[in-house]
Amino acid sequence: MNVYDGWRIATMLKHHGFSQTDDVADADIIILNTCAVRAKATDKVFSALGRIRRAKKPDALFGIVGCVAREAGADAFRRIPDLNFVLGPQSYHKLPQILSNPDSRLLDINLGGLEKFDELPQMETSPRVAYIPIQEGCNHVCTYCIVPYTRGPELSRSFESCMADTLHAAKTGAIEICFLGQNVNGYKYTDESGRIYRLSDLIRETAKIPEIMRIRFTSSYPTEMTDDLIKMFATEPKLLPFLNMPIQSGSQSVLTRMNRPYSLELYLDIIRKLKLARPDIQISSDFIVGFPGETDSDFEQTMAIASQIKYINSYSFKYSPRPHTAAALMKDQIPENIKAERLAKLDSYLNEVQRDFNESCIDKTFDCLLEGPDKTGRHLVYRTPYMQQCIVTTDDITTAPALARITITAANKASLRGKFTA
Ligand code: SAH
Repeated sequence: MNVYDGWRIATMLKHHGFSQTDDVADADIIILNTCAVRAKATDKVFSALGRIRRAKKPDALFGIVGCVAREAGADAFRRIPDLNFVLGPQSYHKLPQILSNPDSRLLDINLGGLEKFDELPQMETSPRVAYIPIQEGCNHVCTYCIVPYTRGPELSRSFESCMADTLHAAKTGAIEICFLGQNVNGYKYTDESGRIYRLSDLIRETAKIPEIMRIRFTSSYPTEMTDDLIKMFATEPKLLPFLNMPIQSGSQSVLTRMNRPYSLELYLDIIRKLKLARPDIQISSDFIVGFPGETDSDFEQTMAIASQIKYINSYSFKYSPRPHTAAALMKDQIPENIKAERLAKLDSYLNEVQRDFNESCIDKTFDCLLEGPDKTGRHLVYRTPYMQQCIVTTDDITTAPALARITITAANKASLRGKFTA
């Protein structure tokens, strides 16, 4: 989502005559687009701001946009007095105000909703993978999560507006569409006639666009995985057989205290239905370890569910207390060393499963999407339908096909190697 917001900000500034530079000392405006989901991310923003203010040209404008701006608000000006702007995730389209009035300070952390989508200019060319946010905010109130505070209540964009962005992306270079939302499978838009549009409608309509060959979406809340959406995995071959559906914990009592009131039976039942619809589907998850009150036995239940489901790719985090959240005030906060121990154990297991899955892909052939040359510039990086990185060596990287059939020849934990196949 932040990558997308960054694209829109860069395009807007281009229209104001700016071009991009990697050199802070050369920049006329410096913008940190920020994430507040864990404390570490927020801390990094303030240490980066300290570095930037010493390195920048004296008259360069600098500020923060996104969730840390919303979280810190006016306090950001107190911590870094020469900051010029602090704009929340739904106000960054107001940035031009500071351009026309550079001696002022601009603070806007209101949750205005969806204006930014229609006020900002479209990108002239789209990347091969185009992110299309279809919703802002979240109505689930997970007790650890700051997102409902930083991005506000859940708002779904209109079906027409989502499809207009998708078509624009397709006509300007996109081959893959990734629909985005904090609760993306909860997408629900009712038009004037009362007709209700869901994510399945967006997928069906997008699959009709000839330029678009691959469709995916993230992040999904388990109980919003409705039958119409599950059916898409059976009927729309362009929908990739890969789904991020965070479980967070394998302990029912921890899930209850997280205010994620789904039963493990229901979660497993959804996976069973998904596999019936698409036998080759694979799932990825997010996990939080060391949530307040998590016992050794709770943690073992997380290990057990990980071993039952065999997620092919996961993100796991130590619980981080966040302002404006209920869990930060809960008793029985877990000591840092226990969190670290549990994270190491879970990560090592998840890595093992990921390596096993990667190895099971050897000799299989997939349609893969070109990401670009690797760091050395001598090999190509493709993405399989499971979003694994696949490295291909060819004589001429300039004529690489954007979509290619690739047979996997080798694998490790992090990536695959493959060769073009007719
Ligand atoms: N709605 C998005 C939330 C983005 S945050 C989603 O479901 O993915 C991405 C992940 O960060 C969450 O799934 C969760 O595992 C983790 N996370 C969120 N708040 C956290 C916190 N306070 N401490 C540790 N991890 C957290």
